[in-house]
Amino acid sequence: MSPSIIPPSASKRAFTCPSCNVTAHQTWYRAAAHTMVNAITLDQHLRNQSIIDAKQKQIYDDVIGENRAKSQWIDRPIHLFKSDSPLGDGRSVKHLSFSNCEHCGSVAVWYKNSIIFPKYSEIQPHPDMPNDVKVTFLEAVSVLKTSPRASSALARLGLEQLCIALGFKQSRLDEKIKALVKSGISTDTQQMLDYIRLAGNDAVHPERINSEDTIENSEILLHFINRICQRLITEPRAADDLYQKISDRSKAAIEKRDSAES
Ligand SMILES: [Zn+2]
Repeated sequence: MSPSIIPPSASKRAFTCPSCNVTAHQTWYRAAAHTMVNAITLDQHLRNQSIIDAKQKQIYDDVIGENRAKSQWIDRPIHLFKSDSPLGDGRSVKHLSFSNCEHCGSVAVWYKNSIIFPKYSEIQPHPDMPNDVKVTFLEAVSVLKTSPRASSALARLGLEQLCIALGFKQSRLDEKIKALVKSGISTDTQQMLDYIRLAGNDAVHPERINSEDTIENSEILLHFINRICQRLITEPRAADDLYQKISDRSKAAIEKRDSAES
């Protein structure tokens, strides 16, 4: 099975952790300027655990500084509260929230619903992705935020390279997919292939009516490429490795069974 990837989102209780890359439950905290001693302090969560580097700390200090400067609670300690528990007499620190990964224990800091640290490492290429595809994939990841359209076009190019690596060398991507379908891929794999093909086309043909060029829409194409690698490279390889362990006698019997007229 392909590991499910859920991009970090301020509206989700589980997502793929930017620190450990495992999809895990996240406990949300909000920050409040407060004097309560039993609340979980930022120091406990961030500074003492050395889970932020110097640059991240600077960003964090800037965010807290901005909030503090606008607040009359300037010298009050900042505490974290679980998002479903009351703040008591604390004053909420605006736009700031924290997610705590159940799997690795790391804390991510969010500002205005965007993750500010750790630096979100973006989507990683599937470990079995062929090298030339990986180069294109990483380029698509690198432009995702600044140009979703360019990212979609690169995702389509990466798919072409992947088809070639799989031995499908027809001239057009459409024909490559047709040959893949003939080879016996699942329907949802075909759907992912065609979705990338069409969305990538739309990105370079402005006269077409297309879906919105949003980061989310373009990001989906990259996740699809990873899933296609899992389906068409990793899983067949794993099945074949296991099959090789079957005795020659059993393999011969299977061959005989499948070649027999039904
Ligand atoms: Zn984690």
